[in-house]
Amino acid sequence: MRRGAVLVLLICLPFLASCAIIPIFKPAPKPTETQTRPVSAAITAKRAQVLMGTMVELTAVAPNEILAQAALSAGFQEIRRLEALLSTWIETSELSMVNQAAGHEPVGVSEETFALLKRAMEAADYTEGGFNIAIGPAARLWNIPEAPRIPSDMELEIAAQYVDYHNIHLNPTRRTVFLEKPGMRIDVGGIGKGFAAEKAAAVMREVGATGGLVAVAGDFRVFGKRADGTAWPVGIRHPRRDGTILATLDSTDEAVSTSGDYERFFLQDGIRYHHILDPDTLQPARLCQSVTVVAPDAGWADALATGLFVMGPVKGMALIERLGFGAVIVDAQGGILVSSRLRSRVKLAP
Ligand code: ADP
Ligand code: MG
Repeated sequence: MRRGAVLVLLICLPFLASCAIIPIFKPAPKPTETQTRPVSAAITAKRAQVLMGTMVELTAVAPNEILAQAALSAGFQEIRRLEALLSTWIETSELSMVNQAAGHEPVGVSEETFALLKRAMEAADYTEGGFNIAIGPAARLWNIPEAPRIPSDMELEIAAQYVDYHNIHLNPTRRTVFLEKPGMRIDVGGIGKGFAAEKAAAVMREVGATGGLVAVAGDFRVFGKRADGTAWPVGIRHPRRDGTILATLDSTDEAVSTSGDYERFFLQDGIRYHHILDPDTLQPARLCQSVTVVAPDAGWADALATGLFVMGPVKGMALIERLGFGAVIVDAQGGILVSSRLRSRVKLAP
């Protein structure tokens, strides 16, 4: 199971005592003399569940306990629903059907699956192919962390024939997906969790949460405010000092996604082999240790964090500035880069 890459104050729950999330305790403001009652009677409810192969942690702020609990239940239900559509570990999922029909025929998919794939293709174009959902055959060879081993050159050469995302054909009129070559395999590991976080947050809001936090491993979506009226403090983990925070930012109505080489990896002969692959070499990408993207939408944030990790700090930061989003990048040497929009918001740990 992947541990959270970004850490948030309110999710260090007692029932998650073993998780790697570190609280950034920021005391609620003390009531003033004229304000002896809480600003609002909002209450906070939290729950965690393993979904999408990782820990999903939801926090809801609502006017009463019933609404808060209903928002949490609806949020989990939404993620479970999307997992059934999108997981390539579930043989009956829509994406599994698409993969099984590779080289044979186009497969009709739901509007949501189509939207996710369309977004993934756009992210591929923006990141010059750094983000690439056709990476499936190579990701399967590396299979980090389940069966860590270095694939042979021959294996990678063969896989290289099946990872061109231009061979994924989306037909918007018929709403079908066709993988041109048998052996191709879509892998939405780099965008699915953010996509689900976005949808879960929307559902929680619909049900009546005024504020909330959806954390699907390192993909966060926050909306509204905490019960005390303050923003959600989000922490970014240090990629090389386990259990230490690199930076924090106060967040609301946006997504914060982190991709790092420290979450799923193995070491061999002193070399770190991790799960974000450079589609050009099919080797673990080497230009960054960690990339955090702040964007209005969690699907974008997730895909861009993975894509920027491959592009590297220079091209990656240029793209983020062009898009008007935010990023904190730790480069291969441990240098920290913060995008212009985040410079006044991000507090680097001493
Ligand atoms: P995590 O899954 O740890 O949140 P990411 O969002 O960065 O991290 O996604 C990494 C996952 O995405 C990998 O486990 C693999 O399934 C897939 N992947 C690996 N390399 C790429 C890539 N270059 N583009 C798109 N997806 C990738
Ligand atoms: Mg990602």
